Amino acid sequence: MAPAAVEHPPARLTVLSGPSGVGKGTVVAEVRRRHPEVWVSVSATTRRRRPGEVDGVHYHFVSDAEFDRLIAEDGLLEWAEYAGNRYGTPAAPVRERLAAGAPALLEIELQGARQVRAREADAQLVFLAPPSWAELESRLAGRGSEPPAVQEERLRIAQAELDAAGEFDVVVVNDDVARAADELVGWLTAPSPRSLRS
Ligand code: 5GP
Repeated sequence: MAPAAVEHPPARLTVLSGPSGVGKGTVVAEVRRRHPEVWVSVSATTRRRRPGEVDGVHYHFVSDAEFDRLIAEDGLLEWAEYAGNRYGTPAAPVRERLAAGAPALLEIELQGARQVRAREADAQLVFLAPPSWAELESRLAGRGSEPPAVQEERLRIAQAELDAAGEFDVVVVNDDVARAADELVGWLTAPSPRSLRS
C-alpha cells in the first residue's frame, strides 16, 4: 500500500500591525537578520524617502500618479492613507509567494490589516504592542525624524490603534526585539486553527 501523503498546512499570509513607533520595522529587520529565508513584502508609498532608505528595499517610492495607477489596476492587496501619505501592498508578489506554498509577511498599519482580514479569510493578524503607553510615547518622540505636528498626529493614531488590539489573532509584546522577532517567526509557520481542525 502506498504511504499516505503527508498533509502540510497551507502557506499563510501573516500581517504584522501595531502603532507607529512600536518597533514593527525594527522587529521585521531582526526577523530578516535571524531568518533570511523569511519573505517580507515591500510596500509602495508616496511618502518621501528618509535618509538611509533604499528604493525597492525599504519601499517602492512612487509618485501620486503611479499610486493612482496601482489602485486603478487593482494591483494592491490593500492600501491606506496614513499621516498624509499613501501606502499599499503590491498584490502579485504576495500571491506568487502563497501559490508557491511559502509564507508571506506584511508589515502594515491598522486600516490595511482590516482590509486584508476582509479579503483573505485565512490571513493571520499579529498585533505588535508596546510594553506600555509611556514607552510608546517616548519611542515616538525619540525618533526625531518628523516635525512636531506629524509626531502629534502619529501619537493620536497610535492611541486609536492600541484600542484595536482585540481585533487581532495574536498579540506580541515588543519588550525585547530578539524575543519578539522569534515569537513572530514562530507564528509565521504555526498551523492555522483551520488546518488543525481539518
Ligand atoms: P513609515 O512612514 O513610518 O515608514 O510607515 C508609516 C506606517 O505605514 C507604519 O505603520 C507602517 O507599518 C505602515 N505601512 C507601511 N507599508 C504599508 C502598506 O503597504 N500598507 C499599509 N496599510 N500600511 C503600511
